[in-house]
Amino acid sequence: MRLAVTDRCNLRCFYCMPEDGLNWLSRSGLMSYEEMLRACRLLVKMGIEKIRITGGEPFVRKDIMLLLAGLAKIDGLKELSMTTNGVLTAPHIPEMKALGIKSVNLSLDTLDANRFFTITRRDEFASVMHTLDELLKHDIEVKINAVVMDGKNTRDIIPMVELTKDLPVSVRFIEEMPFNGDGHVYQGLSWDYVRILNEITSHYPAIKKLTDPAYSTAYNYQIPGHRGTVGIIAAYSRTFCGTCNRIRITPEGTLKNCLYDDGVLNIKDLMRSGISDNELEQNLLNAFSHRVADGWEAERKRVEKNGVHESMATIGG
Ligand code: SAM
Ligand code: SF4
Repeated sequence: MRLAVTDRCNLRCFYCMPEDGLNWLSRSGLMSYEEMLRACRLLVKMGIEKIRITGGEPFVRKDIMLLLAGLAKIDGLKELSMTTNGVLTAPHIPEMKALGIKSVNLSLDTLDANRFFTITRRDEFASVMHTLDELLKHDIEVKINAVVMDGKNTRDIIPMVELTKDLPVSVRFIEEMPFNGDGHVYQGLSWDYVRILNEITSHYPAIKKLTDPAYSTAYNYQIPGHRGTVGIIAAYSRTFCGTCNRIRITPEGTLKNCLYDDGVLNIKDLMRSGISDNELEQNLLNAFSHRVADGWEAERKRVEKNGVHESMATIGG
């Protein structure tokens, strides 16, 4: 399960949200930490084994470490992980480690400070690189998420693969999805997973396919002799829907069975209506049993709000 704890962010990645930000949710529109913990306890009891905290940027939500501490105590939860942009993350790493967080997805689309500024509209490249160093120093598994964007960072693909030579990181290239939050027209995908793989293979003909873990959304590879690995996530082509087992909860408590659906249930509203855990469980089971076949069907069924696409910051990635 991916739990997005806020829609707010300290970056403005152009593929995710407009420069002016979004119409942020009010405090009462957000799930409280108590509500999140209640929902997570129940979902773990129902069989969820892994929770990934995401956002918006999780570290801009006040007292996020309190939520993580509460989640870390849930009996039966096998894995707690986070996705972060790395701007405010570094000081929290020792405590994250102490709470048992073993893996962090760090978003980084380029190794060039100027391109970082162009993409994120903020001058924070140095803080993100510092977070990368600190995560590795603390032996936390790092997956670097890089969205591949035509004309913006495709020249970073090979230097980012080169990072895996000496660093034990997994660099994952993600197809850009149409969730930019400002309705700018999505031009279709120029760099799909096939083109990304061709680019990498032309520089590293000896690249080897690895066995992908069960339910992986990434195709995983390794360059012989490199410490780290390379992944490609066909997030737009949606080649992994058949084995997808993810659910998502948005900052306002909307349960999503698919990244591309419009939400199937609001658990915050249900909890605030005084529902019992048993009733909530029935509602959740009912929602899970209506999972659509794949992301294409979810997108077709989706009701577009004024024709404007949602921001990824309100979904969580
Ligand atoms: N702020 C955190 C971060 O950036 O890591 C967590 C939330 S962010 C929405 C989660 C992931 O979604 C990031 O790795 C980001 O690169 C990815 N993402 C955002 N918008 C996207 C888009 N339009 N297409 C593909 N991936 C996107
Ligand atoms: Fe913020 Fe993450 Fe969206 Fe970038 S991708 S604007 S860091 S929420």
